[in-house]
Amino acid sequence: MNSQFSFKKEVHSKHVLITNLKNIFVFALFISFFGCKTKETIKERTRIAIAGIAIESSTFSPALSHEEAFHAKYGDDIFSYYPFLDVDSLHRKRATWFPTLQGHALPGGTVTREAYESLLGQTLDMLRKDLPYDGLFLDIHGAMSVVGLDDPEGDFIKRVREVIGTETIISTSMDLHGNVSQRLAQHSDLITCYRMAPHEDALDSKKRALVNLLDRIESGKGKPAYKAWIPVPILLPGEMTSTRIEPGKSLYAKVAAETIPDGVVDAAIWIGYAWADEPRNHAVVMVTGDDKKKVTKAAEYLAQNFWDYRADFEFVAPTASLDESLEMAIASEESPFMISDMGDNPTAGGAGDVTWTLNEILKRPEFKTEGGPSVIYASIPGPAFIEKAIEIGVGGKISTTAGADIDARFAPPIALTGTITAIEHGDKHAETEVVVKIGSVSVIVTKKRKPYHKEIDFTRLGLNPRQTDIVVVKIGYLVPELYNMRKGWIMALTPGGVDQDLERLNHQRIIRPMFPLDKEMSTPNLKARLIPLSHE
Ligand SMILES: [Zn+2]
Repeated sequence: MNSQFSFKKEVHSKHVLITNLKNIFVFALFISFFGCKTKETIKERTRIAIAGIAIESSTFSPALSHEEAFHAKYGDDIFSYYPFLDVDSLHRKRATWFPTLQGHALPGGTVTREAYESLLGQTLDMLRKDLPYDGLFLDIHGAMSVVGLDDPEGDFIKRVREVIGTETIISTSMDLHGNVSQRLAQHSDLITCYRMAPHEDALDSKKRALVNLLDRIESGKGKPAYKAWIPVPILLPGEMTSTRIEPGKSLYAKVAAETIPDGVVDAAIWIGYAWADEPRNHAVVMVTGDDKKKVTKAAEYLAQNFWDYRADFEFVAPTASLDESLEMAIASEESPFMISDMGDNPTAGGAGDVTWTLNEILKRPEFKTEGGPSVIYASIPGPAFIEKAIEIGVGGKISTTAGADIDARFAPPIALTGTITAIEHGDKHAETEVVVKIGSVSVIVTKKRKPYHKEIDFTRLGLNPRQTDIVVVKIGYLVPELYNMRKGWIMALTPGGVDQDLERLNHQRIIRPMFPLDKEMSTPNLKARLIPLSHE
C-alpha cells in the first residue's frame, strides 16, 4: 500500500512536474511572445523623422552658395551619415524611421533664397507624407546665412513645426560654431552641440542627441520641462577657441560634468559664428532638464565660466600681418615655413579667389628671380587661365589673369606671367590644376576652388613642400599633415570673407556691447532665461 501509494504519488509527482514544466514552457512562450509583441508595439509606436541642412556661410564674402553645394541625400541614403543607425544597430531597432532630406555643404558664401526654399520645401513635402511623428532628429550646423532672411535655422524649424505640430519632440543637434536664437531654442525640445574643436566628437554628439530623443519618448518622460538659455556677449573666431588648448579645453571639460545630476538631460556651449552679421551671432549656453533649479544652476555656472575666461582666448598659433609673416619666413633658417593665408580660407567660408595675398608676394623683390627662396602658393581659382594653359601645354609660357571673379574687393584679377610646370586633371574639387612658375614662386591655379590640406595635393603636381622654403596655404589652423611637416608657422591676418581680425569686418547688426569688439564692458546679465516649451 505504502509502496503502491508512494508509486502513485511518484507518478502523480511526475505528472505534476510535467504539467508544471508544460505550464512554464507555455508561460515562457507567452512571455516571449508578449515581449516581442511589446517591442513590436514600440516599433510601431515610435516614429522618428530625420531632417536638416548644414552649412557655415559668411555674409562678409560676396560668394553665394547654391542648392548643389549641399549634395542633398534623400530617404534611406541619409543613414550613411550616421553609423550608429546602421541596419543592425541597437538604436535603429528602437524606432521606425522616416529620413527625409539631409544636405551638408562645405563652408561658403550666403545661401541663395531659391536654394533655401527649395531644400526646405522638399523637406516639408517629405515630412507631410508620413505624419504623425513621435520625434524629429534635426541635424543642422547652425551658421547658415540666407539672402534676405534672418535666423534661417529658426525659420527652418518654425516651418517644420507648422507641418509636424507641437506634439512631436524635436531633438536638435548642432555644431558649436552655430547660433542659437530664442526661436530655435523654443521650437527645439532637446538641443545640444559638439564639445570639441576640431570636431572629433561630431558623431558622438549627434548620437547623444538621438539617444536622448529615443530615451525621452520610450520612458514616456517626453519633453524636458525646462530649457535654460543664456546669451553670452562674446564673439570669437574658431581659431581662438580650440578645445585642444586653454582656456577652451577647461571650459568645455565642464560641459559633460554638468549633465550628471539627475534632472539635467543635456548641457551645451555654442561659441557661435563670427562671420555673419545678425543679432543672433554671439555665444550661447543652454541646459535642458526636468529640475528647474539644477537646469538653471548648470547654465549659469557654464555662462559665468565662459565670461570669466574671455580674456584668455588667444590664437592657436602666432599671428602677424602678411608683411611680417613674409619677413619671418624669409629669415627662417629651417624649412618649410608655413604661412596660413587666413582671411580667404575657403574651408571657413571665404570665396577662395581673393588675389590680395598672392599679389603682395609677387611684388616682393626676394621672389623675382628663380634663385630666390622657393615658394608654393596654394591656391587661386581661374577657369579662363586653366583653359589657356591647356592650350599652351606644360613647358610653355603663359600670361593671363586669374582670381577675383567672386571677391574682387581687396585686389583685382591678378596677371600671372610665367612657365607652366604641371597640368593635372581629375581632382574632385579643383577638376583641373595648373602650376605656373613665376620667379621663385610656384602658383597653383585651379578650375574650381580647392583646399590644399594633404602632402599628396602638392606632390601630384610635381611640387615637394618638404623641400620648399615657404608654403603659403589658404587655411586657418593647419591640418595634421601640414602641421607635422612645418618647421615654422605663422597665421597671417590677411583680408577676405573670413578675416580673423574681426574689427576689420565692421559688424553692424550684432548686439553691442560685444567682447572683444567693445573693450570696456560691464558685467553682462548671465542669469538663465527659461524658454517657453515648444507647445506653449
Ligand atoms: Zn565648427
